[in-house]
Amino acid sequence: MNNETLIAEGKKYLMNTYGRLPMVVTKGKGSVIWDADGKEYLDFVSGIAVNGLGHCHPAVVEAIQKQSEALIHCSNLYWIEPQIQLAKLLVEHSSLDKVFFCNSGAEANEGAIKLARKYAAEQGHPERTDIITMEHSFHGRTLATLKATGQEKFHKDFHPLPEGFSYVPFNDFAALKEAVTAKTCAIMLETVQGEGGVIAADPAYLQEVRALCDDCDILLILDEVQCGMGRTGSLFAYEQYGIEPDIMTLAKSLGGGAPIGAFLAKEQVAAAFHPGDHGSTFGGNPLVTAAGVAVMETMLEPGFLDHVQEVSSYLWIKLEALKEKYDDILEVRGKGLLAGLALAHNGSGIVGFAKDHGVLVNCTAGTVIRLLPPLTVTKEEIDKVVTVLDAAFSSRC
Ligand SMILES: *Cc1c(COP(=O)(O)O)cnc(C)c1O
Repeated sequence: MNNETLIAEGKKYLMNTYGRLPMVVTKGKGSVIWDADGKEYLDFVSGIAVNGLGHCHPAVVEAIQKQSEALIHCSNLYWIEPQIQLAKLLVEHSSLDKVFFCNSGAEANEGAIKLARKYAAEQGHPERTDIITMEHSFHGRTLATLKATGQEKFHKDFHPLPEGFSYVPFNDFAALKEAVTAKTCAIMLETVQGEGGVIAADPAYLQEVRALCDDCDILLILDEVQCGMGRTGSLFAYEQYGIEPDIMTLAKSLGGGAPIGAFLAKEQVAAAFHPGDHGSTFGGNPLVTAAGVAVMETMLEPGFLDHVQEVSSYLWIKLEALKEKYDDILEVRGKGLLAGLALAHNGSGIVGFAKDHGVLVNCTAGTVIRLLPPLTVTKEEIDKVVTVLDAAFSSRC
């Protein structure tokens, strides 16, 4: 069936929650996807940073094939071998000590919020329930993570939402310090904000936040659901800041497309959870964690992150050149392969032009063109995308 027929059926049967582009994606390989009409696209959205290894990476395909023949699911009433392997890889290559697996980014953040409150209670401070998050943050769509998300537009019409969250401007240390109270148990932020407009934390800011957390016995939760897993050129974005979080959340690229989330914590923090405190039926099941192991092993191969750094610098040079050329590009921002072009106008025209010319990019926060290529992207593919963006901006003039 073609795009038109399938979309008509989709509109009939699916809830109308997404502003989808009119194309049905049927196949993907590396940085390329195809739609139901057979049209080919260079994909610089990567399933919103999920397909970090590109589409249908052979290591992920093989891991899923093999695991699906051995065991797909058995529940967490028992131990699961690939879950243990993936936890070991994450712990050995991060500054955190213990892992809990769930199924999405929102669930990872829910778990992190629960752990932070439980930790405070176990420390003898049950009154410390509050979490400070950032304006323009994005932490998920469940009720608590919606409340944690510092964007009013997502809250509207869904009240009452859970209590215990307050918001401060991102990268403003004075405002954050001012917001801390005797009830604060954690500060939660994205090391690089994605959805809210592609904004990286300033290094000095994050270091001050870490020191504040240490001084006031507050946990630092870093949401690396989007910016983690190699996207910024290091396995985790925080590594580039000279600080360590107490809790970190992951999802998106962790399973190479298999739906998986995780939160990691320092030993002492993780110890606040006891059997029965948290759980998930599907969380960390054999199929998705086998995919996660394949992703981690691929990213840890020598040269993988060097490649990410090299293509990132290449992309940024090209984007800076575009900015010099067009006045309506105000800023190139973000980090590594989580790159944004902040525009003086709405970005949907650019997205539409690019799509018509075989390139998929995304617009977030209304005016920011977000580029999330697979980490395996080549310079030639970057050239093609930048050429199309160039044409898109010049067609506006
Ligand atoms: C996407 C995202 C989430 C939510 O993840 P879901 O898997 O959609 O629940 C949370 N935090 C950040 C930073 C994200 O980018």
